[in-house]
Amino acid sequence: MPVSREEIRALVERYPSPPVVATVGSHSALDVADGAATEGFTSVVLAQTGRDATYSRYFRTVRAPDGSRRRGCVDEVWTYPRFAALAAPDSQEHLRARGALLVPNRALSSYVPLDVIENELRVPIVGSRRLLRIEERTERENYYSLLEAAHIPFPRAIAGPAAIDRLAIVKLPHASRRLERGFFTAASPAEYRAKVERLVARGTVAPSDLEAARIEEYVLGPVFNFNYFFSPLVPRAEGLELLGVDERRESNLDGLVRLPAAQQLELSETERIPEYTVVGHGTLTVRESILEEAFQLGERFVDAARAAAPPGILGPFCLQSCIDRDGHLTVFDVAARIGGGTNIHLGLGHPYGNALWRVPMSTGRRVAVELRRALEQGRLSEVVT
Ligand code: AMP
Repeated sequence: MPVSREEIRALVERYPSPPVVATVGSHSALDVADGAATEGFTSVVLAQTGRDATYSRYFRTVRAPDGSRRRGCVDEVWTYPRFAALAAPDSQEHLRARGALLVPNRALSSYVPLDVIENELRVPIVGSRRLLRIEERTERENYYSLLEAAHIPFPRAIAGPAAIDRLAIVKLPHASRRLERGFFTAASPAEYRAKVERLVARGTVAPSDLEAARIEEYVLGPVFNFNYFFSPLVPRAEGLELLGVDERRESNLDGLVRLPAAQQLELSETERIPEYTVVGHGTLTVRESILEEAFQLGERFVDAARAAAPPGILGPFCLQSCIDRDGHLTVFDVAARIGGGTNIHLGLGHPYGNALWRVPMSTGRRVAVELRRALEQGRLSEVVT
């Protein structure tokens, strides 16, 4: 049985005051901790032992004798032998006892099984618990169905390898690093077969993943990840905000494109095939005339998500898009939670978020502002599920 909204509402009504802002220690945890600290909350990072030094040592809060923050933004680090252990009954009890409001990120939904998050994790999640699942391409109801319902352009699906008649991207997990991508491109069935052979030999692709792989049209154009925020606490017309835009650095794709063509050709055929492992982010803005379309798509996504999985988007979400030569967006991926690229806004904000809020407004800070407002207005249960 899914954890119900009523149950969470009852839980937050009894929550200790003030609550603490908790997040899983990877992905965007520093942004969330920094934002929480800026807004006067206690920040808690839930880390895996051995992967905790960033939080427990390098960004750990150090206080002056009078209690003021001298450096750092991570107030507390709670470690677990495995991330998934944070959902164990005694750990949940501890989270509730401290009044933890859990900001979901990709690390939460990757390391704690979605069934556990949906059915067993009785801790308030800041955002939509149900929508975390739409990111899984193998789910029947996934982000493509939501994009379709929202009339948002997304890459055309190609029925199978034999139907590849133009440049296509094949989406499947990496053979050994299962949370990474084993994506590759092919422009014909013959190229598909040749690439599969090389990538299986290289250990990037597992043959057993090929059947469930999504094959879609490759959209030619630069990638822009739009980081939005939707607030249910204000009138609908003011609910949608664009906080920032980012791009990814992907390895070894970005290494390959930094090579002049002559040097690329010196690489072996296999080395020339890029991988798409995200290793960093950069900040972007878009041509101003494109912003209006970005807002329209964001609005439509918010409405479609609310219709498909009420209460829909609460807080941050990200539409990852390519912009084509006519300046139109095609959305190829969606995160119904804080995006990893918001790291770029950490501590600084972004031109769009700052222009709107008149102060440096990162996504992490925006989440904390929302929590503070909800608490002040006695509406905490409206921003958690
Ligand atoms: P994703 O796992 O969906 O975030 O995609 C990883 C990377 O693959 C993106 O950052 C893009 O560079 C690329 N990509 C994914 N889908 C497409 C597409 N349909 N057309 C072009 N590039 C794509």
